[in-house]
Amino acid sequence: MIPSEDIDKIRSNSNIVDIISSYINLEPKGKNFFGICPFHDDHNPSMSVSPEKQIYTCFVCGASGNVFTFVQNYENISFPDAVSAVAKKIGYSLNYKTDINKPFKELYQLVDIATKYYINNLNSAYGKDAKNYLLKRNLSEEIIKEFNIGVSLNNNLTKLLSEKGYSEKQIIEASIANKGDNLYDIFQRRITFPINNERGETVAFSARVYNEDNTNKYINSRENPIFKKGNILFNYDKAKNEVNKSKTVIVVEGQFDAIRLYSIGIKNVVATMGTAFTKEHISLLKKLNAKIILMMDNDEAGEKTAISSGEELIKNNLVVEIIKLSGEKDPDDYIIKNGADKFKELLKSPISFFEYKLQYLKSNKDLNKSKDLANYINSVISELNKSDDEILKEVTINKISKEYNIDKEVLTKKLIVPDKKIIPKKINKKIIPRLNKYQKISEAILYMMMKDKKYIKIYDRDLGYIPDKEYGQIANDILAYYKLNKDINIADFISFEMKSIYYETVLRIINKYEEIEPNYEEFDDYIEATKKWIKEEQINKLKNEIDNEPDINRKQELNDLLIKLKKESE
Ligand SMILES: [Zn+2]
Repeated sequence: MIPSEDIDKIRSNSNIVDIISSYINLEPKGKNFFGICPFHDDHNPSMSVSPEKQIYTCFVCGASGNVFTFVQNYENISFPDAVSAVAKKIGYSLNYKTDINKPFKELYQLVDIATKYYINNLNSAYGKDAKNYLLKRNLSEEIIKEFNIGVSLNNNLTKLLSEKGYSEKQIIEASIANKGDNLYDIFQRRITFPINNERGETVAFSARVYNEDNTNKYINSRENPIFKKGNILFNYDKAKNEVNKSKTVIVVEGQFDAIRLYSIGIKNVVATMGTAFTKEHISLLKKLNAKIILMMDNDEAGEKTAISSGEELIKNNLVVEIIKLSGEKDPDDYIIKNGADKFKELLKSPISFFEYKLQYLKSNKDLNKSKDLANYINSVISELNKSDDEILKEVTINKISKEYNIDKEVLTKKLIVPDKKIIPKKINKKIIPRLNKYQKISEAILYMMMKDKKYIKIYDRDLGYIPDKEYGQIANDILAYYKLNKDINIADFISFEMKSIYYETVLRIINKYEEIEPNYEEFDDYIEATKKWIKEEQINKLKNEIDNEPDINRKQELNDLLIKLKKESE
């Protein structure tokens, strides 16, 4: 548990605009800032961030909250982890270990111990060959350190972990050992590259041979509860911030390529680790809110990967460009042979995915043969028919018409006229309940109380009760919060209320009354109206009691009381 004083201090020392800006692009507009909402499939900036209230709201999907809920939902982490992440961002020193209640804690610990162990090996006399190998491949001491590169020697780690008290089952599950007659280290005499998840926690290793001819150049940790290959983009944790600055992310196939680019200062790079794009990869890339540059290996497999990945990414509304390597087989090779400057030059001229696709369709065809040419043009048309970019269609048709001397009209006829039907977006729009007069009044009262402590004082003195379970509880929470903190503001109250079952209602009220400036007169009217409501509720309750009262005398007493109450409320 993080003490609530810390939570409030971190909240009030952080600026929600700065923090959210580190995840998504925000543009100022009037009093607020706007950006593409990361919590639904947003294409127009629907998320508003209020520096005054220190909250954010998406007016399409209803996502709303303070700086902590944003980080929590964006990074998909627990509330305490979100608080600690914000603390880190603003340089607030917080004595909190994020892994206290983490599931699979032991697996993370084991991988952590292994990482340190391998690093240690590399710096020992036994690691000299491996170190030389790395230096010879132009990886500096600095990069080796930054990527926590190490080396596994012989069969020692399993022994060490057993001695530390970890069970066989745990060591196997962490993918550090295999079981034969005995347990033995999976990685032996290999250079180890830690693989981190999106939060920068090491979850697995990729390990490479360095001193023998082995058909298995690379082996990876087995998948386990903390490591799913398809969930991870190598270097994503480090690239995140860089991408935020450059608004571009380069995707390569191998982690060595990623490390190489990083080492020449191109840090906005991630690697797929040799798998096709998964849903998780795509959602990680979407979160970056950046243009994607695919730079696959320079071979047939790489081309195919570029095409299939590009299509998948475009389907998900991402902007994709391609850089084709020529000569060398992968970015690592290219940089080693041609140098960093030449590579950076190459980076300046990516082509659009569509352009790439046209080039790809041409390959292996002899366009002097009419059959090949017809084939090619038909596939171009079928590509165009997948797009709804009218300008692209026009430009492409003009180009091939000129290039191959084909009547433009013939080509245009083959284009499908786009269907004007708009496919509705799937959105989990929050259902806004219909409220009666008194409910509306209660919400206005609660809003004013959250906004300014002077209304809490009036409420406490003049009313103290709302005859509705939900609103009554929220009012009590506001009172409790005020008594604890001697003040109130919306952003901090949200943190306080987070665990309440009425949290959603609180957020709805905050957003609904956003534009209202509280004033005393209005508040007094609301208090009076609510008093009336209380009376009405009492009368209803009494009527009910009278109907169910079997005793004649008692019934008479209650009737007298009812008459008295009615008179009072007139
Ligand atoms: Zn949204």
